[in-house]
Amino acid sequence: MDDLLTILNTMMPIIEQKTNAAPSSLRLWFDDLALTSLDAERAVFSTPSPIRRQILSTKHLDNIKSALAEVIGFEVEVEIILSEAPAPKVNEGEPKTATPELIEERLRAIEEAEEKEDTETIMKEIINGPTPGKKSLLDEYTFENFVEGESNKFARAVCYAVAKEPTTYNPLFIYGQSGLGKTHLLYAVINYMKKNHPHLKIVYKKCETFLDELVRALNDGDTASFKERYRTADVLLIDDIQFLAGKEQTQEEFFHTFSALYEADKQIILASDRPPREIKPLEDRLRTRFEGGLLSDVQPPSYELRVAIIKKKAEYMGLAISDEMVEYIAERLRSNIRQIEGVIKRLYAVCSLTSTEVTRERIDEVISIIDPGNIPTDTMVERILNAVSKTYGVSVEDMKSKRKTEDVANARHIAIHIIKYITPLTLKEIGAIFGRDHATVIFALNKVDRNMSTINNYANEVNRIMKEVKG
Ligand code: ADP
Ligand code: MG
Repeated sequence: MDDLLTILNTMMPIIEQKTNAAPSSLRLWFDDLALTSLDAERAVFSTPSPIRRQILSTKHLDNIKSALAEVIGFEVEVEIILSEAPAPKVNEGEPKTATPELIEERLRAIEEAEEKEDTETIMKEIINGPTPGKKSLLDEYTFENFVEGESNKFARAVCYAVAKEPTTYNPLFIYGQSGLGKTHLLYAVINYMKKNHPHLKIVYKKCETFLDELVRALNDGDTASFKERYRTADVLLIDDIQFLAGKEQTQEEFFHTFSALYEADKQIILASDRPPREIKPLEDRLRTRFEGGLLSDVQPPSYELRVAIIKKKAEYMGLAISDEMVEYIAERLRSNIRQIEGVIKRLYAVCSLTSTEVTRERIDEVISIIDPGNIPTDTMVERILNAVSKTYGVSVEDMKSKRKTEDVANARHIAIHIIKYITPLTLKEIGAIFGRDHATVIFALNKVDRNMSTINNYANEVNRIMKEVKG
């Protein structure tokens, strides 16, 4: 028997003892781990899965290290690398039985790994470099890994320009809804600068951390070192700057930091979930300074960009998925790339465990966990039809029929209006539900619009149904 394999097998029960993770979640991360090489200084483990490598390197490295030391009798550096084995194929070999508990366990393990801690680790990594023996987390957030589309092209371009040539735009203010890649872009700037302008002192902070540090400095009566930390930066990046809203003292301190850096011609990059004018309350002098540089927004991704991102993330994780299912995910998740990523990770967990294909049902299952308010379109249509039917006493069958009596037509028009409002279906697709063309749909929409403003209680009723079907 292979020595390395024997060592690994001896290590496993020790690792199990050392952690309080459930055996099933351990199996999830350790399943295809191999000990690839070992000498007096260093042990290299490998796994074909990037996500497993990431989790093992961040969550289990210490246990792997000490279990190995127990087995071999001395300590060595441990590294976990990606092996070149092909991505796990679905539909091969015996399907394993996945109990709901096991799947639940896996999902929980993934959620745990997604917790905030990552930001903390990355912030530390930016200051100290990657921990020896651990994989760099920051590494993943590069310009190369950022998939570009119309919605984020400009933001990417200005970040890239500033990374290449600091103070090209100063300050640079990136804003847009959560989950659209703002933090990714800031990290990409940092990665680029570290590589190409290694002499620059880069300070990256979440706004909340800036706030905490200030409070601590004030409590300890030591604001000097706080000021020193920020005012000696060559590049200052503050993420989620919207958290300054309403924090008077922090705004005051930030204003001075900002001005000192700006006057010294240092680059300042800010990210926010809204534009400066919507950060309220915010001192005028700060708002005008934020607006005095370059503002760039990131918009929700188009369908094409979503497809490209899903493909890229699935490929990266080694998840086999058909184009049809990629498109299905892109249709259902429209506005948040973080959610898209979460879905792919979970699909990977569920489908690789059960050796099953990614199907619509699996996707629906996973989306219902990540985004409970997001309901498949056909289920939603059914709900709307039933709710309208109940409210107006007209059967769904009648709504779909050729009948034109006033009560039937009214119910049909309202159903059309709500479907248009809530689902992504096109006029033509909505028409098809009722066996009609898109002109009829337009007629219905106009009619309901008119009735909403002229008939007493009509709008209330329609809004109530909308609320009901959305849950
Ligand atoms: P925000 O800071 O805007 O809330 P993040 O930068 O944290 O969003 O992005 C959320 C997740 O989506 C991250 O894992 C990020 O890598 C990923 N992501 C966002 N936009 C893109 C993109 N254009 N290409 C690849 N990954 C992206
Ligand atoms: Mg962010």
